[in-house]
Amino acid sequence: MLINQNRLVDTFMELVKIDSFAGEERSMADNLFSKLKRIGFTVTEDDAGSTINGTAGNIIGKLTGDPTKPTLLFCAHMDRVAPGNNIQPQINHGVITSDGTTILAADDVAGIVAILEAVQTVKEQDIPHGPIEVVFTIAEEGGLNGAKALDSKSLGATFAYFLDTGGPVGTIINQAPYQKNVEFTIYGKAAHAGINPEKGLSAILVAADALRNMNLGRISLDTTANIGIMHAGVATNIIPDQAYLKGEARSLEPILLQSQIDHMVHCVQEAIRVGAKLEVAVHDAYPGFNVPITSEVIKLAVKAADSIGLVADIHSAGGGSDANILNSRGIPSVILGVNFKDVHSKKESIAVSDLALSAQYVAAIIENA
Ligand SMILES: [Zn+2]
Repeated sequence: MLINQNRLVDTFMELVKIDSFAGEERSMADNLFSKLKRIGFTVTEDDAGSTINGTAGNIIGKLTGDPTKPTLLFCAHMDRVAPGNNIQPQINHGVITSDGTTILAADDVAGIVAILEAVQTVKEQDIPHGPIEVVFTIAEEGGLNGAKALDSKSLGATFAYFLDTGGPVGTIINQAPYQKNVEFTIYGKAAHAGINPEKGLSAILVAADALRNMNLGRISLDTTANIGIMHAGVATNIIPDQAYLKGEARSLEPILLQSQIDHMVHCVQEAIRVGAKLEVAVHDAYPGFNVPITSEVIKLAVKAADSIGLVADIHSAGGGSDANILNSRGIPSVILGVNFKDVHSKKESIAVSDLALSAQYVAAIIENA
């Protein structure tokens, strides 16, 4: 089965030019709605947009097929990070980039076009296939909010593939971390720094004490932690009475995640001196997942990779994505590499050959199911 590379590249160029910031995916959603419909999908838009105050909901397409085969779900996200408006894509020596003033939004337009081209090819060439579902989510960047608001009960998927990570085509992410965020507000006592400093209690010094004892960065192979935000103080002549710290911890193992969070909280509690007060808030950011390599979703991905001469490389990721949410809803999901490079930067790029290979791979997964 041969995909149509020219059409694939044209669609990529068309879609990256559509402004589609998180929460502002209306034009992109309308475009993809009609493209799926034209291919033969029954298409709906859910009301995730109103849940998160965005301009569009998740786009859900369903294509009937041989019911004895598993129902495959393919997903990619419609939104992108800034600066991602008015993108002017260019192709040089087979590599697509922006003009250098914006990102390219190959993350995740590359995933979208690989799915579209694959399903269109399967339809055009009458390749026997099972039921296929496609979900294009909103607001993945900055919180997985479209996937969180997705009515996953409306899906019949046996398992799912998310086209949304770097790494060569053939990369299969089967594990991703759990993440919790933690906020500390430390209250000290304000006093004039020149007139009566002995009456003050510096919240900044309390925070410094806490951080000196806190293990951060790479804690182990499975676990990382960071304090990424700190706000404190208003003037050099005032002993600061408040310091705010916000951080996160991630781990492939929920138990290790909890013990890291406990450690961070303990460090701040220990640093609180007489007179100081502390407020702590811990939030779940997203649940992790661990899809066994013996599962059907991975066996099919490996078989399909073999069928087109790709090397399957199964490993874990360090971040959360929409796949974390679908796994937590009971749909076994892995993430496939589309080999975009330098995402979330103005140097972002993708090779035309990798776009084509991704589409070919999705088509092979459908064919081999
Ligand atoms: Zn992405």
